[in-house]
Amino acid sequence: MFKRIKNWFDKKLTLILAPSRGSRSWHISMSYPFATFLSVVFFSVFVAGAYISDLYISYFEAVNTNRKLVLEKNLYSKKVEETLDMLQKVKNIEMQLRGMLGMKSERKIIENFPAGGALSDDKINFTDEIDNIYEISRFTSNVNEVKRETWEQEQSAKNINNFIMRKRDILLSTPSIWPIFGYVTSGYGWRTHPMIQKREFHRAIDIYSPLGRSTPIRSTARGRVVVAGWAGSLGKIVILDHGNGFSTRYCHCSNLIVEQGEKVEQGQILGYVGSTGLSTGNHLHYEVWYRGKPINPVQFVRGR
Ligand SMILES: [Zn+2]
Repeated sequence: MFKRIKNWFDKKLTLILAPSRGSRSWHISMSYPFATFLSVVFFSVFVAGAYISDLYISYFEAVNTNRKLVLEKNLYSKKVEETLDMLQKVKNIEMQLRGMLGMKSERKIIENFPAGGALSDDKINFTDEIDNIYEISRFTSNVNEVKRETWEQEQSAKNINNFIMRKRDILLSTPSIWPIFGYVTSGYGWRTHPMIQKREFHRAIDIYSPLGRSTPIRSTARGRVVVAGWAGSLGKIVILDHGNGFSTRYCHCSNLIVEQGEKVEQGQILGYVGSTGLSTGNHLHYEVWYRGKPINPVQFVRGR
């Protein structure tokens, strides 16, 4: 055993380097252990070199990725800033719109301004370097701010929409168009009745239609038919309830085409002009009632 080891130690390895053109060759001799040691050293240097170069490659890749992330962050920051600016503009338009609609006084508008102030006060310079956790949380909170502001704007837009719808509903439920086109032959107020020759308060306007019975009578507002039928001296009549305290009456009709309980839209045909009941000729006796009292119908249709 010892002999074999000794033999291995005594063995020599000779490297011959032979240049071209017949020059003298170089002989390098070394013991087996030294050759082994040299191989191990070469191998270690090769492995370490590969490892270090791999580290360098990873480092440069990280630098590149970081550069890309900074660019992306700046891009998103710019977008967030633009969105906040846009929301500010929308808020200003909304304030003007509310003012125009008379939803609130200017002071009330400012007092009730969502988030209690302009966005520009809370704005952060997003293009600053984000280099710590505090900056990241500020960035996140501003993104959340955009979400919150957007939600506020949505609610406000819904309020404005509801406000307009309510106003529209009131307008359509208010007797505001002429029931027929014609001449007003008898106005609202005290008069001598043309047939019984007695002083009376005429709580309507009488509208004469030259076309007579072919003239359609239209509902002057959206509502519901509460009466459609005969009513003594008023002849064939229609009474509509419009809600909000308003009702209208259409009298002396020749023919009715709506029934009790039916819903009608503004402008819908209720029947035709006639001379039923106590009447001197084809005309429409039109009444407007508000909170249980007759009022002058002309004040709603003047200028139309
Ligand atoms: Zn009348």
